[in-house]
Amino acid sequence: MISVVVPVFNEEESILHFYDELMRHLPKLSKSYEIIFVDDGSADNTLNLAKELAKKDKNISIYSFRRNHGKAEALTFGFQKAKEDLILTLDADLQDKPSEVKKLFNKQKEGFDLVSGWREHRRDSFAKIIFSKFFNLMASTFWGVRLHDYNCGLKLYTKDAAKSLNLYGGMHRFIPLLVAEKGFRVTEVPVVHDIRRFGKSKYNAIKLLTQSPDMMTMLFLSKYGKRPLHFFGFIGIFIFGVGVLISLYLSILHFLGEPIGTRPLLFLGILLIISGIQIGLTGLIADLVLNVSRKNSFSEIMLKYSSENI
Ligand code: UDP
Ligand code: MG
Repeated sequence: MISVVVPVFNEEESILHFYDELMRHLPKLSKSYEIIFVDDGSADNTLNLAKELAKKDKNISIYSFRRNHGKAEALTFGFQKAKEDLILTLDADLQDKPSEVKKLFNKQKEGFDLVSGWREHRRDSFAKIIFSKFFNLMASTFWGVRLHDYNCGLKLYTKDAAKSLNLYGGMHRFIPLLVAEKGFRVTEVPVVHDIRRFGKSKYNAIKLLTQSPDMMTMLFLSKYGKRPLHFFGFIGIFIFGVGVLISLYLSILHFLGEPIGTRPLLFLGILLIISGIQIGLTGLIADLVLNVSRKNSFSEIMLKYSSENI
């Protein structure tokens, strides 16, 4: 039982080839399956071609965004609609090869919630490979989930792991980190990667660069999303402390008889004390807001055992 989620954006050249290739392998892996095409606001003939496929194949469903939102949103939507216990994702451009899916299945059986492809020999532009290496290095340094490749389109999830994701912007690049953060078991297997034979890549090096702030957001959210006071409090106390030291120093000079009233340092000291308090209080307000709206969603991080699944 498997749901295949495929984000498609202007893939009119490849979608039919993709479907043929997928169907050469998918039925061998699972007797029952569904294929979910999430059309991400394509402006070409992609949607019509997908509809033609769906007319012939009852296992296909298509959802279409009115405009382009990005791969992260397309995947998240597909996960929400998926019905089966295992969810497979692949790019529609045939860079991820359906023939490789079997490797992910075999690995998943060892008890993993996410098996991600590792494009050992990547077939992309030089600039993209460099960017990607940099991202992968940053990610594995900051998060302790050590993979070689976080952003391979080929991934196999358990339903729980996939449905726990709420991705936007460039967040699809770090899915293994987000999934591991929630306590799911994550691993990777080497897969063959192909050049893009049809259509054009939607992510050039510039787009990667503009989406890199998402990485900062993620770093912040994963570390401080639930306790902003720790972040703001630390910065606030540091700035406040420097201000106090400056003021103490000037007070001593004052008691020794030196005039300090016109010294720029005095103003800096006052400014730092006030800013420090402000920043600290901002953290307090953020914590209060979070507490008011806090609803713990334990369903995605808890396992349930009952007579059915023990
Ligand atoms: N994609 C999408 N929305 C976008 C950009 C891409 O759904 O805004 C899809 C695209 O159709 C493909 C997959 O995401 O199936 C990966 O895109 P692409 O091959 O352009 O990325 P690359 O492999 O070059 O990183
Ligand atoms: Mg591609």
